Parts: sequence; structure tokens; C-alpha cells
Amino acid sequence: MPAAPAALLPASRFSDITVDEPDLAALLEAYANLQTSCARAATLADWLALFSAWDALRRRFSTWSAFTELRFRQDTRNAAYKAAVDRSNEMQPKITGLDAEIKRAFLASALRKDMERELGDYVFARWETDVTAYDPSIEALVVRESNLVDEYTALLAQANFEFQNERLNLSALGKFGEHPDRSVRRAAAQVKWDFYGQQRPRLDALYDRLVGVRHAMAQQLGFATFVELGYRRLTRTDYGPADIQRYRNEIVSEIVPLAERIHRAQARELGIDEVMLWDEQIYDRAGSPKPPDDFDRMLMAARNAFAAMHPELGRFATFMTDGNMLDLQLRDGKAGGGFCTSFPTYGLPYVFANFNGSTHDVNVLLHEMGHAFQCYSSRTMPVSDYLWPTAEACEIHSMSMEFLAWPQLGHFFGSDAQGYRLQHLSSSIAFLPYGAAVDHFQHLVYERPNATPGERHGFWKQVEALYLPWRRYGDIEHLRHGGYWQQQQHIYSLPFYYIDYTLALATALQLWVKSLDDYGAALGAYTSLCKRGGEAPFQTLVRSAGLKSPFEPGVLHAVAERAGEVLGL
Ligand SMILES: [Zn+2]
Repeated sequence: MPAAPAALLPASRFSDITVDEPDLAALLEAYANLQTSCARAATLADWLALFSAWDALRRRFSTWSAFTELRFRQDTRNAAYKAAVDRSNEMQPKITGLDAEIKRAFLASALRKDMERELGDYVFARWETDVTAYDPSIEALVVRESNLVDEYTALLAQANFEFQNERLNLSALGKFGEHPDRSVRRAAAQVKWDFYGQQRPRLDALYDRLVGVRHAMAQQLGFATFVELGYRRLTRTDYGPADIQRYRNEIVSEIVPLAERIHRAQARELGIDEVMLWDEQIYDRAGSPKPPDDFDRMLMAARNAFAAMHPELGRFATFMTDGNMLDLQLRDGKAGGGFCTSFPTYGLPYVFANFNGSTHDVNVLLHEMGHAFQCYSSRTMPVSDYLWPTAEACEIHSMSMEFLAWPQLGHFFGSDAQGYRLQHLSSSIAFLPYGAAVDHFQHLVYERPNATPGERHGFWKQVEALYLPWRRYGDIEHLRHGGYWQQQQHIYSLPFYYIDYTLALATALQLWVKSLDDYGAALGAYTSLCKRGGEAPFQTLVRSAGLKSPFEPGVLHAVAERAGEVLGL
């Protein structure tokens, strides 16, 4: 691509980052000037100069909104952070609308073909999808949607439990899912799901409002249901609901039988009749392999593991830890979950997680560092739309990192590394049907926007029977009545995103197979893929790494066969 790499502000530590809240009036004026320039642009040079100015504006806004969102998640009880994130939520749709205007001008330009040669044609395909997903007439609905999502985030973040003489939030309670004593796991599950059971009316009402708001947006934009809009909001340019449906069917035929064998083997290993929900995270009678319990030793293990994988990864891990670009420890009021965000004006990624001392911490760290490495590798992309790929391609970088780290897991788990590998592979396979269930559920929900909350719980039971036939909830009331999905944050906050994890996993598993046969080649394909950022759509990126699109028939079959061999099933 001939366009020059982006110029970045210098920063090597989190504390170097400063953001100024944008002044809405000034921002509106800047966009008005851009629109005037679009109307006057006559030459390719005019258009490219305009593009640079607009792109820089977008990077600054995105840096501020990412920083504001991060601050809120770091302490959901801080009133000033909450107020700032509310202002960001309100400004966001205005900016989306203004961006859409500029995108329309670029799409309609007589010099579009010349610009495509400079900027790549993919960005134009993205914009074509984007501009149909937003119109200023839905601004109030978008703000309402963000506020409802934040209400859900805060409701879960502020949940508090007394368990085993400790005060715990939901993230901290999660560690008991790996406790070697089955009765403790069972009791922790009861405490957790009693909370969801008590909150069920509120969680139902929140979701009902979200579905209503999203359906209203879709109708306003001329779509029959939210499904098509949901896909467009994720900028899916190279597949649609029919491809996803075929792919989910393949998960049922190729992966569900292997997942069932995995759970039967797990029951044998644990010496129990059936794997109940609270046993699902345990694959070894002696308990799960434990990472270092001391935080500093955990970080050191991570630095050593990355350095042993590849010097470039080692330098990156040192840069991230020395620069304080990680917030990994539990705190009261901190939002749950893990994610990687970025500050594009500086070209810096940031990793957020909630370590609770469980095996899962290692997954989360490797996963988010995979995102961060991609973000850092492609930080000078001249087009900000290319900094991150679409979500399913993003998750390839994170999930592949989990598998590429296999040879170095001894740094975290010592002699238990092999146990971790088998557990990681087993849980990855079992995840594919779960991800498909979450996706199928959302299709049912948005195709029938007038369903009652009770009917939605019925939809969940329906998809569970298809994708998760091994699931056993015992007598936990909330779950017996179809309430499991309410803990899946993406269902509330990022509709239709979840299947992306499975598409990425189906790709990462191919890279894992490659790494078993030729580690160097697999790692090389990975780092090249990271450098490409988001300059192409999902399936093009996958094929450029020498892998197959998960939509191609047979991909899941081949992966399941190799996984079955490694697991001895
Ligand atoms: Zn991820």
C-alpha cells in the first residue's frame, strides 16, 4: 500500500499517555470543515490530504474514548469516571454519524478507484457496510443501548459474596470452579447462580430493553430484524447468516460427538458418574495445574515464556510489563472480564484482566497478549480502519497465541504443563459448541423480537439440547429454567460477536496442527498475520496465512481428528 505509515506520538509507558476530552463544538466544526473540503476536493492529492486529516481526528477521538472506557472499567464506582464514560457514550453516535457522512463522500467520489489504489479497496468495502448501519435518526437509541449495557456491567461488577470466609466479587468467586474439592465447587456454583436467580427479573428486563432498542434501530434503518444490522455493525463483508448456519451445523456433526467423548473421559478421570456444570473446568482428579501464586513470579514466567518463543515476542512482553501496560489484578469495583484496548495516537495496546489465581489466568494473559502483539505489530497502518481487523480475525491472534505458547508452558506450570495442554485442548473443543449455542440463541432472539423473557429462556434450553447435550445443572433453579446465558456478557453488550471466537478458534486450531508439525513455520505465519492487522477481510487474512476458511467443508473434521488423536479419544 503506497500511503505513508502513520506518525505516532512518543510514549513508552502508560503514564506517558495523556488525553484531553474533546470539545464537542470544536469537533463538530472540524467535521463541518472536512465536509466542505470533500465538496471542493478536485484532485487525488486533495482527497488524500483530506483523508489524513480525518484519520488523525478519528485516532484522537478513539484514543480518548478507549482511555475513558478503560478508566471506568478499572473502577466502576468512581463517579467522575462514570460521568466521563456517559459523555463518551453520548458523543459516540454523533461521531459515528459524522464519520458516516465523510465515508459517503469518499464512496461517491469520482476518484474512488484512484484512492483504492492508495488506501486499498477493502476500506471502501468496510465503509459501504458501515454507512448502512448508522443514521443520525437512531442516535438516541444508540445512547440508550450503551447506557443499558453499562447498567449490566455495573450490576455484575458490584456483585459481592461472602464465601469460605472471604469477600469476593464474581471474578474472584470464579476461581472455585477449579477447586479440587467437589463439594466446594458445588457450593460456589450455588452462590454464584443464586445471585443470578435473584437478579433474574432485572437481567430479563435489561435484556428485553436491549432487544427492543436494537430492533427499533433496525426498523428505523429499513431492516426487517436486527440480525442483518447486527452483522453490518460487525463489518462482516465476506459472509452472512446462511454461511454461519451451515458452519454451526458442522459444529453439531463434527465437534459435538468429540466434545461428548471428552466429557465422558473427564468423568472417568474424576471418578464420577457425570460431569456436572461445576466439574466442567476440572480435568484432573488432583485439581487443575496452578500458575505461580505470586503476581511478580507470574509476570516473570510470562516474560520468560514469550522470550523463549521468539526474541521479538520477548521484547514485546518486556515492553508491556515495564511500561505498565497491563492491569491484571483483582480489585473491588473493577469490572469483570479481560480485554485488550489501544490508544491509536500512541500506537500502544493495553491489557485488562482479573487474575484470580486459577489456571484460567494463563489463558487470559496469553490470549490478551496475542491481541496486544497484533495491535502493536500493525500500529503504523496508514488507515485507522486497518489497525484492528474485524473481530473474528482479531481473535485468531489471541487464540493462536494460546496454542503457540504450548512448548513454553513449563514456565507457568512446571511439570504440570502437559496436564494444562490437554485441558486447554479439551476445553477449546468443548468451547466450539458453546459458542455456536450463544450465536444460535441470539438469532432466535432477534428474529423474534416480541418474544417474552420466559420464551427467551426457552430458546436457550432449545439450543442447549442441540449443542451442549452433556450439560448437567443438578438442582440449581436458575439454570434448570434456562438462565445460563445471562452471565455471558457478550449477549448483552456485543450482539452476534460470540461466534467470532469459534471462527477464530477453528483457524487457530489449524495453526496449532501446523505448529505440531513445523513450529517455526507456524510462528512465522502468525507474526506475518499480525503485521497485516486488518488490511483485508477475515477469509482473505486466513488464506494469506496458509490456512483454510472455517466455512470450507471439512476444516472442522480435520481439526477434530487431530485433536482426538492428541487426546487419545
Ligand atoms: Zn479476544
